[in-house]
Amino acid sequence: MATAQTPHIAILPSPGMGHLIPLVEFAKRLVHQHNFTVTFVIPTDGSPSKAQKSTLDSLPSSIDSVFLPPVDLSDLPEGSKIETVISLTVARSLPFIRDALKSLAARTKLVGLVVDLFGTDAFDVAREFNVSPYIFFPSTAMTLSLFLYLPKLDQMVSCEYRDLPEMVRIPGCIPIYGNQLLDPTQDRKNDSYKWLLHHTKRYRLAEGIMVNSFVDLEGGAIKALQDKEPGKPPIYPVGPLVNVDSSSKADGSGCLKWLDGQPHGSVLYVSFGSGGTLSYNQINELALGLEMSQQRFLWVVRSPNDQVANATFFSVQSQQDPFDFLPKGFLERTKGRGLVVPSWAPQAQVLSHGSTGGFLTHCGWNSALESVVNGVPLIAWPLYAEQKMNAVMLAEDIKVALRAKPNENGLVCRDEIAKAVKGLMEGEEGKGVRNRMKDLKEAAAKVLSENGSSGKALSEVAQKWRNQIGI
Ligand code: UDP
Repeated sequence: MATAQTPHIAILPSPGMGHLIPLVEFAKRLVHQHNFTVTFVIPTDGSPSKAQKSTLDSLPSSIDSVFLPPVDLSDLPEGSKIETVISLTVARSLPFIRDALKSLAARTKLVGLVVDLFGTDAFDVAREFNVSPYIFFPSTAMTLSLFLYLPKLDQMVSCEYRDLPEMVRIPGCIPIYGNQLLDPTQDRKNDSYKWLLHHTKRYRLAEGIMVNSFVDLEGGAIKALQDKEPGKPPIYPVGPLVNVDSSSKADGSGCLKWLDGQPHGSVLYVSFGSGGTLSYNQINELALGLEMSQQRFLWVVRSPNDQVANATFFSVQSQQDPFDFLPKGFLERTKGRGLVVPSWAPQAQVLSHGSTGGFLTHCGWNSALESVVNGVPLIAWPLYAEQKMNAVMLAEDIKVALRAKPNENGLVCRDEIAKAVKGLMEGEEGKGVRNRMKDLKEAAAKVLSENGSSGKALSEVAQKWRNQIGI
């Protein structure tokens, strides 16, 4: 129960469900395991999305949330990248963040401000109130290692990273080609790269960085991150913190019921996260590839978007239902063996369902971790953000994913899709990735226990915060 001595944490999520979901799990652990109270302070450039609201409304009373007044971004040039939009939303919200922290500091024992990827501009406001700034990094230790290395890489390399003939060696990680690094590094003249660099330089101002990963998954990167270096904040691997949402019992699309009727481990779940969209041609190939594979599948489909791969990042609604863009006769021919649902599925429940035996994913980090905790092997099909890096790590380093590779025109063809799907669901290759995923599932359950490495890392941070108010 909250008392006058209960330590309080403010959390500043940047827009996007993929950022909010792990922060919510983080908040729940602070509350349930360490007796903290938490307030989400949410910058926005419009009204909150339905998904955001229902996630926050379902939380216990010790986790509060405040939506800040929307900022005006109408002066941004068309085509501004997501990193620019997010960073400017936070930067222009600073007066509101100051008001919110002032009010929290007056009412509670506010000991920490936790921001995610691109929220470092709020650090200065936290310092004004003697509140220590922390980062919760909702992606891989590999991407975090790149973030801390980027200011140096930026000085060492003068060309575009994608033109580098040699591979980039991120400390502690598998070597990777420059064109596989996260999106905002792909055009160094674009504002999104300038913002990224700005934030990565400020990462060192944090008192600590929590990363949503764990030692059995990314031992090399975590070790490199924890190597002592002057000015580098302590790194705490606290993952896997994943969506275990059982409140979204509503199975509007009927997919859980449909899964109940399928044989154990037989269904491939196909989804591109909260924001991913495919082109019209790509949807066509995927449909025909799934059909050719002759495997069972559950596919969350969004209407095609030929311009951008993350078209629904801020609002998960598909534009045109029903499925008139699917190949003619596809639904009839795959009836019984495949189920297609529009826009959104209760993914946490789908992945923990016994009938689910594989996941074709865009490699968003929450999706990958949700698959790990359920021991479901992957087919990696990265689209945007840092997903290409995640795919390299999952497929080539820890080997829990097969690849479905695009051809020279960027299209993943039906034969390639059918081969990967069959390979995963019934081939020898599939057995290997499945077994490794099972081992990781067991490891994931252990690290989160009180004496596991991630459980201990979170306790260490909680204790540091408690020490600030002498408890
Ligand atoms: N998600 C879901 N249903 C969907 C699509 C996504 O519940 O149909 C959830 C998924 O379980 C995960 C999050 O949304 O927790 C997506 O995060 P991820 O990092 O995988 O990808 P992003 O959406 O950020 O690209």
